[in-house]
Amino acid sequence: MIDVAQTDELAALRQWRRSFHRFPEPAWCEYRTTSLICAALAEAGFEIRIGEQLLSPSMVMGRDIDEAQEKARALQQGADADWLARLTHTGLLAVLDTGRPGPSLALRVDLDAVRVRECVSADHLPQQLGFASASDGVMHACAHDAHAAIAVVLGQLLAGYQHTLCGKIKLFFQPAEEGCRAGKAVASGGQLDDVDQLLAIHLGIHAHSGELVVCPEGFLSSTKFDVEFIGKPAHAGLEPNAGANALSAACQAVSQMLAIAPHRDGMTRINIGHLHAGQERNVVPAYAFLQGETRGATAALNEYVFSAVQRIVQGVAMSHGVDYMIRRQGEAISIENSPALVHTLTLLGDELGYNVIHSRPFGASDDAGFLIDRVQRRGGQAAYIVIGADLKAGHHTDQFDFDEDVMGRALNLLFHWFARQLTVTVSQPD
Ligand SMILES: [Zn+2]
Repeated sequence: MIDVAQTDELAALRQWRRSFHRFPEPAWCEYRTTSLICAALAEAGFEIRIGEQLLSPSMVMGRDIDEAQEKARALQQGADADWLARLTHTGLLAVLDTGRPGPSLALRVDLDAVRVRECVSADHLPQQLGFASASDGVMHACAHDAHAAIAVVLGQLLAGYQHTLCGKIKLFFQPAEEGCRAGKAVASGGQLDDVDQLLAIHLGIHAHSGELVVCPEGFLSSTKFDVEFIGKPAHAGLEPNAGANALSAACQAVSQMLAIAPHRDGMTRINIGHLHAGQERNVVPAYAFLQGETRGATAALNEYVFSAVQRIVQGVAMSHGVDYMIRRQGEAISIENSPALVHTLTLLGDELGYNVIHSRPFGASDDAGFLIDRVQRRGGQAAYIVIGADLKAGHHTDQFDFDEDVMGRALNLLFHWFARQLTVTVSQPD
């Protein structure tokens, strides 16, 4: 079997990855990234679908950005001006329809970076080689830069073989995975409804270079939420009785939420990661804002915790005489891979020299679950796989970095997964 990850491809992978790493963009701000991928894959012969052609805007969560400002920043950082002008939401779908009857195969990758300030130490490789983050407080600390790079080069490579292929190739570049804010919108956008098989990938996550986890387990269902309490200000000395204390409501709510009982049926989590309230020492605080998340081993367990959160907020608001608002800002559901696809990937991984591991705990959430669920519900097969990568430090930490060589192996695996099913014989590009 040919190894498609030759010198040129490896160089292209590194170049794309380092460019994305240098200019990381957090959830819903991936304008530079999206525009450059649109340009590259349009040139390779793909049809590009963006905005409402990719996702349903009414299902978008946690998108609180200054679009004009983000686009101006992206342009300054080298975005493709033509594509940038056409973007409403970030993210894209690149479609290569061979026009010959055959299956429709899809890959889903993510694009966004994390709000982490990248380590400035000289022994951090991106600093050493000059591709560390140019955006203060934002960093590709979860390898989504690699995911995007792999999918772009894969698209270019497959396009070179299109005259020997049948069926349809769909590459989903999903925005806003961090905080699980876009998966639901993409899943309900309709573009997965003709997909026969879907693969979602992640690098790292408890797997070393050379390992391939074909059936990661323990994806958590999760709800990300914001709560606002709106009270009434008053002079704390003259007329405290005229106020309604939003700060006190928030504190009560947080301590009650942290005391939600665990569930006998399985793992649950709750975290309140941000609380901000009040303005002035001598004013009864009229406003409080908090951000939290619930998780559960199953959708029902997550719902158990989140419905308790809703009851607590309502009850505390009532007892304090304040108004409240709860906003869902992100959502993920658990994932179960299709057995037939797991089998195919096991054989392919073996053949390509991977150390194939059947299952290993994932322990986090990924909103690819909505895309996977959509394909499976319509009778298709879908799987989420972890491509091992040795890491310098953990995901979402400031020293995160991974073994770049695994990108070539990932490219080879994905190329053969597509090519093997879409072609009679893999020949050289024309
Ligand atoms: Zn990630």
